[in-house]
Amino acid sequence: MIIVMQAGAPEEQLQEVLRRVEELGYQSHIIRGTIRTVVGAVGDERGKAKLQSLEALAGVESVVPILQPFKLASREFRPQETVVKVGEIEVGAERLALIAGPCAVESETQILESARAVKAAGATILRGGAFKPRTSPYSFQGLGEHGLELLARAREATGLKIVTEVINDRDVELVAQYTDMLQVGARNMQNFALLHSVGEARKPVLLKRGMSATIKDLLMSAEYILSHGNYDVILCERGIRTYETATRFTLDLNAVPVLNKLTHLPVIVDPSHGTGHWEYVTAMARAGIAAGADGLIVEVHPKPDEALSDGLQSLTPERFQELMRQVALVAKAVGRTL
Ligand code: PEP
Ligand code: MN
Repeated sequence: MIIVMQAGAPEEQLQEVLRRVEELGYQSHIIRGTIRTVVGAVGDERGKAKLQSLEALAGVESVVPILQPFKLASREFRPQETVVKVGEIEVGAERLALIAGPCAVESETQILESARAVKAAGATILRGGAFKPRTSPYSFQGLGEHGLELLARAREATGLKIVTEVINDRDVELVAQYTDMLQVGARNMQNFALLHSVGEARKPVLLKRGMSATIKDLLMSAEYILSHGNYDVILCERGIRTYETATRFTLDLNAVPVLNKLTHLPVIVDPSHGTGHWEYVTAMARAGIAAGADGLIVEVHPKPDEALSDGLQSLTPERFQELMRQVALVAKAVGRTL
């Protein structure tokens, strides 16, 4: 339920509403708007009638149900766009967020070279996995904490913000010590213990859509994070499994306008995993921005043919520069900047 306060209702009336919401066994989430404040009361659907009675409290304008099952993530709860701040970088505002870097951190030279190259091309956030969720247990699993240290060095050297994946709830605290944003990967989109932990972390979260997850599943996973108190969630469309085999996944760009309709959270697109081949990445990056995405996450490696993971879908620095040039043109056409 959403409890809409009257414009200018004093703080004591709001506090009384919060007290009553919690007394009824609901969690309250507050959005303070410029004109009025709204309170989202979330919890067991069966007690809705009791919440409805709060309409009689002083300062309350109305109590209305949130129809979507993802309550806090829905546009009903928050009609205006959420802008997530990764350090001072805004995601979801007019300027597009460009995240780029290798699939995995492999060595100091590799991550520093990657960082300098993507920065020179105009990216503002460096990606790179230190903990890699590989399909095969025999594939390179990442450098672990040493990889996190190397990412931190790359941040120091370039000023880029960093995003890196956390693959289980036990590592959230460790990864959060190093990174500016926590990435929850496709294979972990419904790892509820992990969603709970990143929901309690004080870092923004990049939540990637599972390869077999519906848009609603993705939003329900975002809801786990929001309901644990972390409102800084960025959604990522990264391709789903279909019967198509010409590409690694099928980048579901329908998800971009659908998510933009259903949620206030920023949405970015991953054309690297979405296609699985460097040759298609730039075209789908352009398409993602044209469809209304707030940014991109792109795999870039100084030597893709020597990469320990996802080399085939990684762009060389030169190709990434060309991607940026082309995306800038599309951005301009849709009223965004780079
Ligand atoms: C990645 O970003 O390298 C990655 C593993 O992505 P996904 O979780 O989308 O497969
Ligand atoms: Mn990858």
